[in-house]
Amino acid sequence: MSATIIDGKVVSQEIREEVKKLAAVLKEEHGITPGLAFILVGNNPASEVYVRNKAKACEALGFYSITEKMPEDVSQQSVIDKVAEFNEDGRVHGILVQMPLPKHMNEYEVIEAVHPSKDVDALHPFNIGMYSQAKSWDEIMKKRLLLPCTPYGMMILLEKYGIEVSGKKAVVVGRSNLGGKPTAALLLSKNATVTIAHSRTENLRSVCRDADILVAVIGKANFIKKDFIKPGAAVLDVGINRTDSGLVGDVDFEAAKEVAGWITPVPGGVGAMTISMLMKNTYMAALRKAEGTNSKHEILNSKQIRNLKPHKETRFDLEERTERFSKRVIHFVDAVPKDIADNEIVKQVVRSAGSIGANYIEANEALSRKDFLMRAKISRKEAKETRYWLRLIKCPPSQEDERDALVEEATEIMKILGAIVTKSSQ
Ligand code: NAP
Repeated sequence: MSATIIDGKVVSQEIREEVKKLAAVLKEEHGITPGLAFILVGNNPASEVYVRNKAKACEALGFYSITEKMPEDVSQQSVIDKVAEFNEDGRVHGILVQMPLPKHMNEYEVIEAVHPSKDVDALHPFNIGMYSQAKSWDEIMKKRLLLPCTPYGMMILLEKYGIEVSGKKAVVVGRSNLGGKPTAALLLSKNATVTIAHSRTENLRSVCRDADILVAVIGKANFIKKDFIKPGAAVLDVGINRTDSGLVGDVDFEAAKEVAGWITPVPGGVGAMTISMLMKNTYMAALRKAEGTNSKHEILNSKQIRNLKPHKETRFDLEERTERFSKRVIHFVDAVPKDIADNEIVKQVVRSAGSIGANYIEANEALSRKDFLMRAKISRKEAKETRYWLRLIKCPPSQEDERDALVEEATEIMKILGAIVTKSSQ
């Protein structure tokens, strides 16, 4: 039996065509062109080729791209300053600092300088946390999380070839932060039973032989032999190794394809997907910007968003308080003799007093921080309007104390809402 060869080039092309169409719609509907900024430090020839290929992909999809080249001996702070500049640049939705960085730099510190919403490599701890804590692949997709490109590409290959993941045993050989760990997290989100193996794993061959899905992210040419593979398993080879006989993977492809059910070649397999997934991530980052869900806080889940809002008791206290206030206002204006009060002003005061509470309730039900803020601000504006109209109401002297008390209460509610808006904007 010979394995089905998973053609990464074909799937990659499909992804690019899909992203190109989606980006055209984004441009038409929101006037936004996805943009990607590259920072290339030093003269590593492989890195230069990678960045050039990624920039070419941007061009083919109609994305904006910009490449900042920096000398090998540049300071880490200068790289971080450049990242900060791109963080602020509205044309840029994704920032990619090409790795590896020169030895005198701490890669983690540079990665952490990238704003999580622009971290299209998904290397920032915030994004790692987001996809790692997601309960399912569906949740990851629904929240449009940024995913590390190569592992993301593998999930798409499995999907496109109809390879069942849920309930299957997956073994990932390699535990690097770029390769093995994120791959394991994504397989887990798809309900695989995942084992991560590494250089200290005992009986590696038998661990691998147990796998329905075997992923090799090792960096050792032809390391995974035929007898490591369970007959019929899906074998995904991430390794890229330069040898005298050309580019080869971590799996002994010619022999392995006789026993595997599916297998990715090198080149033309997993590696072919990486740039397409980078394009997809950049499109996603631009889409989230268009939808107004593109800040570090705005991509928190709804429970976290709620925790950013005022304390639960304050929320309900204020809901009750505005409701009580609204009733008092209605009671007050009902008691003002019709020939004294101006009917238009009465209508305004009743409308605005009712809107304070209604908008505040909607704010508490909003699922995004942006919606919450918008509703809370409207609520504050209505409190201000209420105060304004109350001051204009003419009433008999016997009702003036009640009117002044209502003006005071409107002022108080306005101040509380102002504090909530300020706290939630931070
Ligand atoms: P890495 O950081 O060097 O990690 C290699 C992993 O393999 C480590 O976890 C290591 O275990 C494990 N390993 C090494 N020797 C082993 C052995 N004899 N038995 C079992 N495990 C062993 O490399 P990486 O960045 O993950 O990359 C791995 C390969 O994937 C490279 O060839 C790289 O070029 C390729 N890659 C390709 C793409 C792409 O296609 N776009 C993306 C990323 C990586 P320990 O942790 O115990 O040392």
